[in-house]
Amino acid sequence: MEIKLQLKQNNSVDQFNFDQFQFGVEATDHMLVAKYKDGQWESATIRPFESLQISPLAMCLHYGQTVFEGLKAYKQVNGDLSIFRLDRHHARMNESLRRMAMPELPEALFCEGIKQLVGLEQDWISDLEGYSLYIRPFMIATEERLGVSISKEYLFMVVCTPMAAYYSKPLKVKVERQYTRAAKGGVGAAKNGGNYGAAYYPANLAQQEGFDQVIWTDGRDHEYVEESGTMNLMFIIDGKLITPPVGETVLAGVTRDALLTLAKDLRWDVEERPISLSEIKMAFESGKKVEAFGVGTAAVIAPFEQIHMDGVDYFPSVDADAKMFQLKQQLTAIRSGEQTDKFGWNT
Ligand code: PMP
Repeated sequence: MEIKLQLKQNNSVDQFNFDQFQFGVEATDHMLVAKYKDGQWESATIRPFESLQISPLAMCLHYGQTVFEGLKAYKQVNGDLSIFRLDRHHARMNESLRRMAMPELPEALFCEGIKQLVGLEQDWISDLEGYSLYIRPFMIATEERLGVSISKEYLFMVVCTPMAAYYSKPLKVKVERQYTRAAKGGVGAAKNGGNYGAAYYPANLAQQEGFDQVIWTDGRDHEYVEESGTMNLMFIIDGKLITPPVGETVLAGVTRDALLTLAKDLRWDVEERPISLSEIKMAFESGKKVEAFGVGTAAVIAPFEQIHMDGVDYFPSVDADAKMFQLKQQLTAIRSGEQTDKFGWNT
């Protein structure tokens, strides 16, 4: 698929202050825009970043047919550019699109488009340690009609924003036993915009109680943990790495998959299985060493220092020698090119 190129006259990267900026506010100079109509992709162009003009009748504004992805590009220690697990993000975007009855994206558009765009925007990745380029592909339904039905027109876009080194301070989290992020048969496994908007209210209530984030539990009985905020959830209990299985209610995180692969490669004990609240309580009460953390593209690992569960606070280990940091270090070294990319994750 041909991707046309319209370059911006004067790039703004030279004026950008890499020492002080907020994540996700300033876009890079270019964006990819592709239009879909009546069963086919009509055009794809990389062009200067600008606002969209959209009809108030556009279906995405009313019925939530939207899907997004989030991935990162790095400058490696030898100066090469690398996009982390591009193929996996492409596959997941298509899984989300299928669930939302939206057209899938050909590799020639998603992968080649992102590669071209990142190549063009590489000056936006600072050489400072830990900096990266956050890549946001997304698709919206653009047919202009108020009827509740599947849109026949879509816009696929990719925008990028610079990202500084991200360190997550240890989090205080609350086990959520009233609200539900995802239910069996629902759309929790898709990166559909509505999933995120629907999570704000319970997350905000938890913040008012002094917590940083919630741990989501299963929508039926609220007895099994699923995810935390917008991260997958992992525990290391007495040296064993345990994480809930992905499926209809747990997003198939790319970081989760990478960390599990690394842990298995290190010959750690790894279990992907449901984890009940009583198992977690028992682990703490019997004095086992418990590490608990969220995993995702933004932070890689976000350690938990406090878990609030049914009125009781539990305190997982966040010592500098916690095993979770070994995994983070390995993943970081593969992405930066300091460690051999034996799983073929860098594009
Ligand atoms: N769960 C949810 C609900 C998310 O939105 C994300 C972020 N994409 C994750 C988990 C982590 O996934 P990844 O490692 O692919 O960023």
